[in-house]
Amino acid sequence: MFVSTRRGFLKSAVAGLAAPYAFAQNSKITATPLAENIHLLSGAGANVIAHTGADGVLIIDGGLAQNADVLLQAVAALPKSGPVRTLFNTHWHPEQTGCNEKLGTAGATIIAQENTRLWLQQNITWPWNGQKFKKFSKIAQPNKTFYDKGALDNGIRYGYIADAAHTDGDLYVYFPQQNVLAVGDAAYGQGWPIVDWWTGGWIGGIAGGLQRIQSIANKETKIVPAQGPVLSFADIAAQAEMYGTIYDRLNQMLNKGRGPTEAVAAKPAKEYEEKMGNPDTFIRRAFESQWAYLSPDA
Ligand SMILES: [Zn+2]
Repeated sequence: MFVSTRRGFLKSAVAGLAAPYAFAQNSKITATPLAENIHLLSGAGANVIAHTGADGVLIIDGGLAQNADVLLQAVAALPKSGPVRTLFNTHWHPEQTGCNEKLGTAGATIIAQENTRLWLQQNITWPWNGQKFKKFSKIAQPNKTFYDKGALDNGIRYGYIADAAHTDGDLYVYFPQQNVLAVGDAAYGQGWPIVDWWTGGWIGGIAGGLQRIQSIANKETKIVPAQGPVLSFADIAAQAEMYGTIYDRLNQMLNKGRGPTEAVAAKPAKEYEEKMGNPDTFIRRAFESQWAYLSPDA
């Protein structure tokens, strides 16, 4: 989590990265300058990136619906702010799509990969815990979708993370001028990821997505995940190696006819546990994700 402090501001000012100033708009949402005209907003349920400029504000992800009002107030209070004209959904999860209804009603362009729109058009129940998600009204659904990649008039680029790292509709947004890359939940800033195999994510995709992120970024890119602190290229490379190792081990167990309970017991993430925490839920779901991904009717 980022907290705006004078100290943090001075540190980033020294590094030459700060926007004019940083401030906390209210007790819940904090804004931190990330690069010229780009702020990171924390506290809405997911990291939200706001890009301000003469042609209106663009935000990447919208936090949870219950935080939409305070988040949009915080966005409005940013330097050089204005109406939010563009919203990206990095995937369909509630932490990403909580502003869709408000901004869709206000006439914003909501951009998502086509699969994200398809998920938001149907009711979803996660089989592992029974959690239910209601389909979105038409006005709240993404109204500009793509399959592969695209670019905005101001040079901002976006594209599909086709590996199914987290869902089958993950996207990235890249700001070439500031060298900032938003990757949603295709990389995790803290803890083990949720493997949402019901809507297409899988362990092989986590490893593949992290490789793809390295092909989009460069050594100086600031990589912003949906959860946790900003990551460096080296962080992504280390994650790619870790998830690649775990994927190999789980894949070997699958090929030997083992199941998820045996996979958890085999501790395929043991050398990472001290840093990352208990992996059991992640390992179980990651193992199941192989069935979902590799079975012919998936
Ligand atoms: Zn997610």
